[in-house]
Amino acid sequence: MSINKIPVLDLKPQYQALKDEIKTAINAVLESGQFIMGPEVKRFEEEVAAYLGVNHAIGVNSGTDALVIGLRALGIGEGDEVITTPFSFFATAESIGNVGAKPIFVDINPHTYNIDPKAIKEQITSRTKAIMPVHLYGKPAAMGQILDIAQAHNLKIIEDCAQSFGAKYAGTCSSCQESCQEDTRAQISGKLTGTIGNVGAFSFFPSKNLGAYGDGGLIATDDDQIAEAARMLRVHGAKKKYHNEVLGYNSRLDSLQAAILRVKLKYIDEWNQGRRRVAKTYNEFLADADGIITPELADGHVFHQYTIRVLDGKRDLVKQYLAEQGIGSMIYYPVPQDKLPVYQGQYSANSVSDVLAGEVLSLPIWAELAETDIKRIVETIKQALIV
Ligand SMILES: *Cc1c(COP(=O)(O)O)cnc(C)c1O
Repeated sequence: MSINKIPVLDLKPQYQALKDEIKTAINAVLESGQFIMGPEVKRFEEEVAAYLGVNHAIGVNSGTDALVIGLRALGIGEGDEVITTPFSFFATAESIGNVGAKPIFVDINPHTYNIDPKAIKEQITSRTKAIMPVHLYGKPAAMGQILDIAQAHNLKIIEDCAQSFGAKYAGTCSSCQESCQEDTRAQISGKLTGTIGNVGAFSFFPSKNLGAYGDGGLIATDDDQIAEAARMLRVHGAKKKYHNEVLGYNSRLDSLQAAILRVKLKYIDEWNQGRRRVAKTYNEFLADADGIITPELADGHVFHQYTIRVLDGKRDLVKQYLAEQGIGSMIYYPVPQDKLPVYQGQYSANSVSDVLAGEVLSLPIWAELAETDIKRIVETIKQALIV
């Protein structure tokens, strides 16, 4: 008997539901003959700016480019240090290195998987120019405390929102279990990730919560000067064509992706709600599983990933057993950024991040994932823990 497979991500149900709308949008671009920038990109940027509640949204080629161009627009470069989390995809640190600055990794909070604000303070030097928090797995970082630190030390904040489109800072510190200025929290409570720091950098890689059918990214900012710099950098450093002022990039969001994203933007809140429903169901079914730590269903968390911790050295065994039963799972991330070969021996250990890299396991999640499938995944995990 062949087993019914459950992949770690299935994009087909979403496409099936939107097929007609997507095809109409793609066709309109093909008929228009306008493939680079143009009206679709402009409209998408306006709609995202309205959705996020920011003055400027600037489409670029990828989330990685959004980080690089965001850093450049903030004036960060050679000799500067940017404090970030070790527990993220390499694009986070890579973007800092690619503008000539140095990533400084500080440890994470084991309850939130996100950068630990207390650890940030200890690493600030005269070279520190910015903090780059990542809202990992779609969970907003402790922005209240991060904002307080940035303001006290005159640092910029560039938020890596690749996994957190639509996530909202809830203004509570229950999950990070640390105190911070209540007035700062109240001031930013209810704001979407990417709108709290100076720059928000988003990715539309197909598997992200708001995914294109190819690469894409976006920079969000309220600041006119940052926006102007970013708009210039994405087209070879020219405000006016053939009058290039600085070394920039060829990093535009293409019109086809913009048209597809305009269709999808209308559904993002619904899909994020669906992801939260899946996470809640997992948490209920996993509540009695020994040796598993489930993620908190924090307000505003959009569950780009549903990631558990498997204790007692059993993570790889559970992953293997799931695979044997036809169930996909992923490890985000098996090697913290500071431990990657590219940085061999350059950084000292971050104990929490190092431990979590050996324990985390991301389970299948998408908005339409059925409860019967979640049940089967959880039962399989429980079986794996007994064998
Ligand atoms: C996906 C991702 C990126 C990079 O986005 P791309 O669009 O693939 O360039 C950056 N940071 C994090 C945390 C990501 O998950």
